[in-house]
Amino acid sequence: MKFRTKEEYHADLRAMRPNVFKNGRFIEDIVTDPDTKTLIENESLTYELLQNPEHDAILKAKSTLSGETVARWHTLMTCPEDLMMYGKLKKLHFHHTGVCCAGVCTGWNTFNVLWSVTAEIDEKHGTDYHKRLEAWLRDVELKTYKIGGALTDAKGDRGKKAGQQVTPDVNLRVTEIRDDGIVVNGAKVMIANAAAFHEIICIPGTAYKENEKEFVISFAVPRDAKGLTLVQAEVKEGREGWDAMKYSTMASYLIFEDCFIPKEKVFMCGEWESSGVIISRFTANYRAAIGSCMSGNGDVMLGAAALMARANGLSANVFREKFVDMQMIGNLVYGLGLGAMLAGEKHPSGTFYADPTLAHTNKYYVATSYAELRRICEDVGGGIAETGCLPNYKDCTDPVMGPKIMKYVKGNSELSAETRARAARLSEWFTSGGGTMAFIHGGGSPDGARVVVRLNTPVDEYVKYAAGIAGITEKVEDPAPKK
Ligand SMILES: Cc1cc2nc3c(=O)[nH]c(=O)nc-3n(C[C@H](O)[C@H](O)[C@H](O)COP(=O)(O)OP(=O)(O)OC[C@H]3O[C@@H](n4cnc5c(N)ncnc54)[C@H](O)[C@@H]3O)c2cc1C
Repeated sequence: MKFRTKEEYHADLRAMRPNVFKNGRFIEDIVTDPDTKTLIENESLTYELLQNPEHDAILKAKSTLSGETVARWHTLMTCPEDLMMYGKLKKLHFHHTGVCCAGVCTGWNTFNVLWSVTAEIDEKHGTDYHKRLEAWLRDVELKTYKIGGALTDAKGDRGKKAGQQVTPDVNLRVTEIRDDGIVVNGAKVMIANAAAFHEIICIPGTAYKENEKEFVISFAVPRDAKGLTLVQAEVKEGREGWDAMKYSTMASYLIFEDCFIPKEKVFMCGEWESSGVIISRFTANYRAAIGSCMSGNGDVMLGAAALMARANGLSANVFREKFVDMQMIGNLVYGLGLGAMLAGEKHPSGTFYADPTLAHTNKYYVATSYAELRRICEDVGGGIAETGCLPNYKDCTDPVMGPKIMKYVKGNSELSAETRARAARLSEWFTSGGGTMAFIHGGGSPDGARVVVRLNTPVDEYVKYAAGIAGITEKVEDPAPKK
């Protein structure tokens, strides 16, 4: 099979309707525009790696649909090893860019979840969603498309249910059902790297009740569909010289205004009983694999810290115990994620899902230990690596002031001042700039993860074991609630 090249991908993006908004205008060429260029460079990387046979074991796999060798991010995950490759692909990407690769992550997970859910819905309701999904997947697989996954609604007032909101559109909803498709209105927000995708799959962002059917929709939509506008979030980075980073991740608000979705791309419409299972399967796989992202990110952060140590004139060895701490944090979440994958279960439709309790535990540790990685990186680098301490590229290269500044930027006498400035910007980028990743809320909030673990912690069962070991024979129960 012929895989899409970076150049072809750029041509696809340029051929799209200009519906990406930032800084008061619609961006004409998102490949080169300074507001989106680094995002496109980031998502282009997998197309570059696809052309390098060195990465074939991770990036390519046999399709269970066509039997052809395809880009791995279009395959169905049918066993723990497939899930592990989901994590490995993301780690590989982080090692090259340091940032999130949603184009080979969120969409991949989303259609894998829909694979089993559409099979279940069809069995119950006699619908044909599964066949539609399969046809869509065969098509994107052939085209080596970048696919995103969008769950998160704007939500509005967090204290109110979807049906109680003053503005109903804060949760994406179907406003018209026609014979040939559906019309949707509302928004999905904070969708990582969405402007860089060919298509985006939307799924419900929470479990809904019977009276909330209008919010229970799933469909694939081209990024430039009529009725869809993307608003780009801001990323903190400089634009020039070493202030600018080559790669970035950048989320979008997706605003749907009377957007028509043809029937063949609709995978769910109103089947409210299946909305909860979508969330639980999505988060199980995502949260098992998020440790791969953070360990990949931690590896390059460790590299950035060691670079700073050397640029400062010290041996990296001075900080070896701190680097062991960084590595162990990465290993913990990577390994726990692998454990969640191994302990998962195969669904009768063929797809495989990680163990939810272990996966949610992993998400919690990812969210809570990320700050420690950043702390150590800043600690090793010194003040120059913390935000707001290094003059910008323009001043550092000013014909008059530049040499005077760089005289004091220089650290290690064997290395240039520019190397120290570049290394400092990188550490700053990772720890408090646009390279700070969404490990707290990305993939859902840590409190949500705790709820799943709490629900799966059978205190009474453990009391029974403990009582048996202690030789206690009478029933030991909670005291009756005080009146
Ligand atoms: C950089 C980035 C990239 C992202 N990429 C994607 C993506 O590609 N696709 C996608 O679908 N989503 C994406 N997200 C969104 C992400 O999934 C959400 O941020 C996450 O689910 C949390 O939702 P929220 O931000 O609306 O927070 P909120 O729901 O507002 O939560 C804030 C806090 O309040 C708590 N809380 C909320 N409601 C209640 C309640 N009723 N009772 C008690 N506590 C409550 C939460 O637990 C949390 O601690 C991304 C987010 C980020 C930051």
